[in-house]
Amino acid sequence: MKAVPDLFGSMVFNDAVMKDRLPKETFRSLKSTIEKGEPLNSEIANIVANAMKEWAIEKGATHYTHWFQPMTGMTAEKHDSFISPEPGGKVIMEFSGKELIKGEPDASSFPSGGLRSTFEARGYTAWDPTSYAFVKDGVLCIPTAFCSYSGEALDQKTPLLKSMEVINKQVLRILKIFGTNAKHILTTVGPEQEYFLVDKKAFDSRPDLLNCGRTLFGARPAKGQELSDHYFGVIKPRVTAFMRELNEELWKLGINAKTEHNEVAPAQHELAPVFATTNIAVDHNQLTMEVMKKVALKHGMACLLHEKPFAGVNGSGKHNNWSICTDTGINLLDPGKTPAENAQFLLILAAVIKAVDEYQDLLRMSVASAGNDHRLGAHEAPPAIVSIFLGDELTAILEDIEAGKIHKDAGSRYMEIGAAVLPSFPMDNTDRNRTSPFAFTGNKFEFRMVGSSQSVSMANTVLNTIIAEELSQFADILETSGDIAADVNKIVIKTLKDHKRIIFNGNNYSEEWVVEAERRGLLNLKSTADAIATFVQPKNVALFEKYGVFTEAEMRSRSEIMLDNYCKTLHIEALTMIDMTKKSIIPSVIEYQNILANTAAAKKAVNPHISTELEEKLLDSVSKLSVCLYDHLEVLEEAVIQANDINDVQEKAFFYRKEVFSKMAELRGVADELELNVGAEYWAFPTYSELLYSVE
Ligand code: ADP
Ligand code: MG
Repeated sequence: MKAVPDLFGSMVFNDAVMKDRLPKETFRSLKSTIEKGEPLNSEIANIVANAMKEWAIEKGATHYTHWFQPMTGMTAEKHDSFISPEPGGKVIMEFSGKELIKGEPDASSFPSGGLRSTFEARGYTAWDPTSYAFVKDGVLCIPTAFCSYSGEALDQKTPLLKSMEVINKQVLRILKIFGTNAKHILTTVGPEQEYFLVDKKAFDSRPDLLNCGRTLFGARPAKGQELSDHYFGVIKPRVTAFMRELNEELWKLGINAKTEHNEVAPAQHELAPVFATTNIAVDHNQLTMEVMKKVALKHGMACLLHEKPFAGVNGSGKHNNWSICTDTGINLLDPGKTPAENAQFLLILAAVIKAVDEYQDLLRMSVASAGNDHRLGAHEAPPAIVSIFLGDELTAILEDIEAGKIHKDAGSRYMEIGAAVLPSFPMDNTDRNRTSPFAFTGNKFEFRMVGSSQSVSMANTVLNTIIAEELSQFADILETSGDIAADVNKIVIKTLKDHKRIIFNGNNYSEEWVVEAERRGLLNLKSTADAIATFVQPKNVALFEKYGVFTEAEMRSRSEIMLDNYCKTLHIEALTMIDMTKKSIIPSVIEYQNILANTAAAKKAVNPHISTELEEKLLDSVSKLSVCLYDHLEVLEEAVIQANDINDVQEKAFFYRKEVFSKMAELRGVADELELNVGAEYWAFPTYSELLYSVE
């Protein structure tokens, strides 16, 4: 392996490469158009495209693609080669500025939620020059946004970029009020990614893993995660080799893979990057998931990104660490040392508290998926109830401010600004509460509800927009204020009075919290069907339309896409269960009963007095269970047929959740009981033990 600094970013057309390969003037005007968000003129685009092509060819590329993120949750690419025919049967390698800036993939099969009718089905892709182009598998990839011809966003990137612009504008208004020096701000994100690794052979013999990414059956293994012996444990050699290659591949792509460790469940691991600007962090996380899968295959393993691959052990999530940073390098969620910094911090904190309370539904919606429904509220991940953890120290300070008291912390100095007294506080907020969905961790918020397989784009689009809205309300007051310090104090106090119900520092996994949250009037949107239903509520439409992040039509289309995806996922899972039951479990069970019956009969034939109690007892219980299995199978089949008859997608989603989902659980219960009672060699699939402990 090359030295890491040489390897790092070697497949990325980054600033250093551009500086090196572009004429000085071109580089400068490219950077300035990017900064101002202006369209690139065609002359510059041509020079950039040509330099990009030359560089990519040196890296082994023959093709280019506009790399985008449609509403499938994955990335999409359609490759075009650089070749252009020349007289005499020859070709030259060409790539124009036009091709760099805009693409027209015939992408009519991507979900549009009714935004595109087939006659105008084509969408277009537009370069996001703030995210570097890179070479992957011999293809020059250009990060792009994907829109319909009438301009509606059909992807994850477009609204995210808009939300970044929106929060930039509102934060700058606040900074101006406090006299903080900054030209622009960026939100930063560090997504910690959890995943499982299982042996590829075991994976291949499980139709449920192949079709659905999770096990639909599987009796508990004798040993699960109860000993906590996997968490931060010594990493097995095959996994180490995988991680080494994964890191190398990610580093080549300029992804700051930083931390790796074993997670709580057997076969579960985590990778965390150094945080980056939000849209880049989102792009990088998508790439990370893709590279994980590819590298795992090279090592004879399958990488499972599903939120709940195995029942009975922890599932996987993605912790979305989020903050706001100025172009001058100040982290605005860092409480700061001076009274002015403190006041500014408290105001931004108040905006976050108000935003999370008023838009609990949007945050919950942003992480809704069939897979994530298995985690949220299952005592292994935050509940479906959104709340904020601030820690005792910060909470005490806020309570004192609300009560009009000065915060009397040992050794703290009291700082006065005008009429208001705001404390200077040391932040030693080591977050020991791992159960909160939205935790302040000293200088950033950690949104812990995101599912492991999801793009973090929607979560951050929502975060940016809701916090921008609250900051905008505060800025409206403060920009015309005669006494800023007093008004900041008033805003903070009012926010706390109105929204402190959202602050909860206790154990989010406890039953008491569910009851308490209900008493406080917090939402508990248990399933994806419930969560998505809230997206298009008037207050949410008003919010997104106000800032131009989504139009109502886009929101409706997105709801439809998400609900449709939810129904289809459950449909595929139900059909896979039905098939596995009929084609494998029932034959296994019959074969085993046959053995038992034949053994008993054979024994009796040898000696009528010999005891066949064991065979008979087992046969009796397996036989009873198999009748029960068949009953549940028929009930599930009936539910699937009924679901098919429902046209309204929201109604259908509720039906899938209420009827199909519960019938699946019942069928599974019986099948798992059978698995525990049937001889190992008769069972058709690798067991949980084989899956969870297969990698050496
Ligand atoms: P853990 O949550 O496991 O204790 P850390 O808190 O150290 O780990 O960091 C988790 C993630 O938070 C990392 O990806 C890190 O880069 C990211 N992070 C740290 N600071 C910021 C920030 N200012 N903005 C966004 N993400 C951040
Ligand atoms: Mg963390």
